[in-house]
This record gives sequence, structure tokens and C-alpha cells, in this order.
Amino acid sequence: MFADNDPRLSQLLEGIVRLASGDLSSRIEVSPARDELDAIIMGTNLLAEDLQIIYEELEQRVQVRTQLLHEAHLEMQKMAMQDPLTGLANRSALLEALKGALDADGGSGDSPALLLMDLDAFKSINDSLGHTAGDHVLSIVGQKIRSAVRASDVVARLGGDEFAIVLPGASCDQAGIVAHRILAALAEPIDVPGRSVRCGASMGLSCGGAGKTPEDMLMEADVAMYASKAEGQNRLHRFEPGLLLVRRLRSQLVEDLRGAIQSGGLMLHYQPVVELGTGRIEGVEALVRWNHPSRGFIMPDEFIPLAEEAGLISELGNWVLRTAVHQLRDWLDASVVDGSFSVRINISATDLQSLQFIEDVRAVLKETGVRPEQVVLELTEVAIVKGNELDRYSLGGLRGLGVGIEIDDFGTGYSSISYLRRLPVDRVKVDRSLITGLGTDSSHPALVAAVLQLVRACGLEAVWEGVETAEQAEILRGLGCLSAQGYFFSKPVPPEQIPELLAAKPESAREQE
Ligand code: C2E
Ligand code: MG
Ligand code: MG
Repeated sequence: MFADNDPRLSQLLEGIVRLASGDLSSRIEVSPARDELDAIIMGTNLLAEDLQIIYEELEQRVQVRTQLLHEAHLEMQKMAMQDPLTGLANRSALLEALKGALDADGGSGDSPALLLMDLDAFKSINDSLGHTAGDHVLSIVGQKIRSAVRASDVVARLGGDEFAIVLPGASCDQAGIVAHRILAALAEPIDVPGRSVRCGASMGLSCGGAGKTPEDMLMEADVAMYASKAEGQNRLHRFEPGLLLVRRLRSQLVEDLRGAIQSGGLMLHYQPVVELGTGRIEGVEALVRWNHPSRGFIMPDEFIPLAEEAGLISELGNWVLRTAVHQLRDWLDASVVDGSFSVRINISATDLQSLQFIEDVRAVLKETGVRPEQVVLELTEVAIVKGNELDRYSLGGLRGLGVGIEIDDFGTGYSSISYLRRLPVDRVKVDRSLITGLGTDSSHPALVAAVLQLVRACGLEAVWEGVETAEQAEILRGLGCLSAQGYFFSKPVPPEQIPELLAAKPESAREQE
């Protein structure tokens, strides 16, 4: 037993107080007596030891958890600033980088440049090859941009097929060089499973300057990019204030066009295609016209590119298709034309790439009961060449419906013999530029004869477009050409005038009288 005044009692109490106050490393001294009190002291020390170990383990665990939390937080921050598909920066990160670059300038003249770009053919790739292929193309494009710029430049995907690059401290000229480097990199084909596609881009450039905000620069680059888009593929424009007005007028026109397609502001004119041997009208070509409420008639060369760009071309194409085939049905019903008469319809590259278009053609044929041979689709060489392998599939699909397919504006570019033989088409429409010299230039008939021979060697037939004089018609007939079209026979006319033209005596019959 120990005495009440045993000093170890107060040592024990003090030790417990130290432990209780958090000093888990403190221990209470054990006396040589090794009596019951020492046993309690030793027990308390063991308890302290245990507590210390548990406490240290806990500390360690808290440390690990804190580290994990910190990492997760960083990851979340990164995710909030990163485009998950391409691993590039996202819009918020871009704006932040742009703000940083503008702030760093601080009036020293070392302003940043901003490039904005939009892929030209992405929508059709995505629509026709599917989203997986689309995603693949986007990430390859991201890599191509990344490797065309400096490590300090910030590359972002702003969503969809829009990319942006902040070039800190770059002059406008330097940014222009980088832009062209990117355009060149994008001109190379991209492999997606089973095929390869090309995806050019339209670019806009805004150069920083005193007092500009990131939003100002984005807006400027966007307006400049818009101007590039309007000019066709693979362009770069630098922002100028004048472009703002152009854009406003253009967006007004797009709105007007949207309205016109939906509420009957468009109409079709029809231009006869004539059999050269007899002067008989064998068919017509449907040519779309827009009767604009304040601007009067607008011709397709002006608004078809606008429709393409504004994503209205499929709607427009479907309207033209339906209107023309229904018109043919009406003429057939009224016995104005017979079963050998055909209607030619111009289709755009976008129509050609959309599988929906094949369904639209099938539907209108079924609905009207018009025989497919009486419908000929005209598509330009550019449309076929510009597209990818899928076009051949779409062409095959259309061909399977039994409609005629004709290459329009033949001779203006791309044709090669092997290409002509490969395509599932049955006729070409020779561009009018090939016969402009006919009748004035004595060497010209030889050229026409050679083109005719080439077309026939490929197993095709030719229609000659843009015949403006009797002499041209006569030379073509003399060379053995079968069909032609042009102002000499008739300009494109409203549908009401077609019965009258059909009833008139053919030119050749009149000559023979
Ligand atoms: P295209 O298919 O090659 O149509 C022929 C164009 O040449 C028409 O111009 C026609 O009016 C014009 N033309 C006909 N004969 C002569 C002639 O003897 N001399 C001259 N100088 N020109 C002649 P238009 O109607 O302005 O159409 C221009 C282009 O717009 C068309 O070229 C076609 O590519 C496109 N287009 C027209 N309608 C449609 C449509 O409904 N859908 C689509 N996607 N494109 C269309
Ligand atoms: Mg045509
Ligand atoms: Mg043509």
C-alpha cells in the first residue's frame, strides 16, 4: 500500500493532466517500489502510448485525405477550364488567358492576338459518318492546331467545331503566319475508320489594342471569321470595322431567306432543254428565284451560298425538289408533257451528303407517282469532289431510286477520265464557258468535238449549256451533239409559260417549211 502523502500520487495526477491537455508524449516516472501505484502509473503510460499511436495514425490519415482533397480540387478546377473531348482549354479558360494577356500588355504595345476558327465541312462529316467519327476529327484537329503553335499560346475549343487560339504578345502579322500554318495543316486529310476526310476552316483574326476587353476581341474575331466563311473555304480575315456593317446586312438577308423558304417567297423558273436534231423540248431545268420584298429578284448565285452558310440549304433543296416534282405531276396530269419529258433539279453538295435527301427524293416520287427516270439531279463536279467517299454512297443510293444523275458545269475543273468512269452518273452538262468561243473562234469546234468524244468514250452523253446563237446550235448539231440549253432556245421562264413554249413549233421544223 502507499501513503496518502506519497509524492508519486501528485506526479500521477500531474501526468494525467499533461496527457489530458494533449501532450501525448509525456510519461509518468515509475518508482523502484513497483507497488500498486506503480502498476497504475505503468497502465497510464501504456494508455498514453496507445493514444499516441492512434493519434499519429489519425494525423497521417488526415494528411493523406487532405492531399487527396487538394488533388480532386485541382482536377475539378482543370475540368472546369478544359474541354474534355480534346483536352484543350475551354471558353472560360480562353477568356481568362485572353484577359491575362491583355493585362500583361498594360499599354506596352505587346498586345495579344486572337484567332477564331470554324471548321468548314464538319457538320456534314458528323451527319454522314456519325458522332464517333466526328469526335475523332475534332480531337485530331485539336492536335494539329496544338502542334502548329508555340507552347505559350493557348488553344481552346469553344464548343461544336469552333476553336480559338490566344497568341500572347504576337503582332498581327505573326498571328497571320500562324493562321496560315494551321490552315495548311488542316488541308491534309484526316483518317477516320474506313475513309479519309478533309476539313478546312474559316478563320478570323483580332489584334489586341489599348482598352479592348476579351469579349471585344472575341466579337471582332467572330466578325472577321464570318467574312472568311462568306468567301469560301480556308480563308483568313482580319477584323476591320467595315465588316460589322457587312455582317448586319448579311444576317438580315439570312432572316429574310429563312422567311422566304417557309412562306412562299421563292419560286422556280424553268429553262427548256432541247433535242438539237429536232428542236423538240425534251425537258426543263428548274432554277430557283427569290422575289425579295424590297430588293426584287435575287439570283441563286447570290443566295445559294448564303443558304449553305446559314444551314438553310437542306430546307431550300427540299422545297425545290418537292415543287419541281409536283410541277411535273401537274404538267403530266394536264397532258402538257408526256412520259419522256424530264425535270432537272440542281442539288447542292450538302444535299448530296445527307442521307435524308435520298429519303426526300423517295418520298416525293411515291407521293406524286412520277416515274424516277423523269427526274434528273444535277450536281456540280465541285460538289462531288469536295465531298468524301460517302458521296459515292449517296450517289449510289440516289441512283438506286432510278433517278437520272448529271454532272453540272462539266469542264470547269476536276474531271479526269478515271473519275468520270467511276461515278454512277449517266450524263454531263458541259459548262457554257466551253462553248463561248463557238461561232467566233475557228478552232473551237475541234475542242467541242474532242470533249464530246471524251465524254462518249466514258460511256456518257452530254448536254451543252449556254447556247446563245443559232450558229452555235448549228455547229453543235453538226458535230453530233444531241441536247442543248441556252438563251437561244429560251431563257428560264415561270411555269405558266412552259405549255406555250411546248406548243410552239420547234425551230428546226420552222426552218424546214
Ligand atoms: P446552273 O445549274 O449551271 O444553271 C445554269 C445557269 O445558266 C442559270 O443561271 C441559267 O439562267 C444560266 N443560263 C442558261 N442559259 C444561258 C445562256 O444561254 N447564257 C448565259 N449567259 N446564261 C445562261 P441561274 O438561274 O442564275 O443559276 C445559277 C446557278 O445557281 C445554277 O447554275 C445552279 O448551280 C444554281 N442553282 C440554281 N437553282 C438552284 C437550286 O434550286 N438549287 C441549287 N442547289 N442550286 C441552284
Ligand atoms: Mg444546273
Ligand atoms: Mg451549269
